[in-house]
Amino acid sequence: MHSIFISDLHLAPERPRINDVFFAFTRDTAPQAQALYILGDLFEYWVGDDDLGDPFNAAIADALRELSGKGTVLCFMHGNRDVLVGPAFAARCGAQLLADPTLLDLYGARTLVMHGDTLCTDDVEYQKFRVYAHDPENQRRFLAQPLPARRQQMLGMRTQSEKSKQAKAADIMDVAPAAVEQALRQHGYPRLIHGHTHRPARHAHVVDGHRCERWVLNDWYERGGYLRCDSGGCKAELL
Ligand code: MN
Repeated sequence: MHSIFISDLHLAPERPRINDVFFAFTRDTAPQAQALYILGDLFEYWVGDDDLGDPFNAAIADALRELSGKGTVLCFMHGNRDVLVGPAFAARCGAQLLADPTLLDLYGARTLVMHGDTLCTDDVEYQKFRVYAHDPENQRRFLAQPLPARRQQMLGMRTQSEKSKQAKAADIMDVAPAAVEQALRQHGYPRLIHGHTHRPARHAHVVDGHRCERWVLNDWYERGGYLRCDSGGCKAELL
């Protein structure tokens, strides 16, 4: 028995090669797992569940539906790109929505899962934007607009975010060590799995004398990959 974890696929119609990797993954790799955890940024952007009529979005949802139909438990956590994924998308995929963070019992090992953006506390500008994007009233106002207007705004935000990322020092966009320690302390020193930073690695931390490990998931820009965990531990695998 094992579970697998993915994040930061950033699926978009403009990247057909990685979409094919995703479809093969849901067909061949993921059904062998007891559970698949998607820890955010499955999509490059998501403008609302009423965009499920879009053929690309529908194809992704159908691939996940087929996977959950085979018995793999499907759990979805929001990333910063797909914060507007809602209950309709989850129902269509047969997924349950997970709060960020969530503490799991993973084959006896307490494991905290997060998207990872809340750990990047040195990026003050991003954290301000995150508060704005998670505000229910702001979300309601955005979703009240017609689909084409939402798509256009979302593309504008993406361009803006790419520009501001280029201007920022690399370490500002990584996790802040103090935020990692705080999360581990607050949840009783579990194992931690997160994505978002696109810096795949296994880190060892000693917090208040407790040894913890932190797995950072890979993004799917160049190559697909996942983290596989069973009762013996976790291992990063590339596709
Ligand atoms: Mn992210």
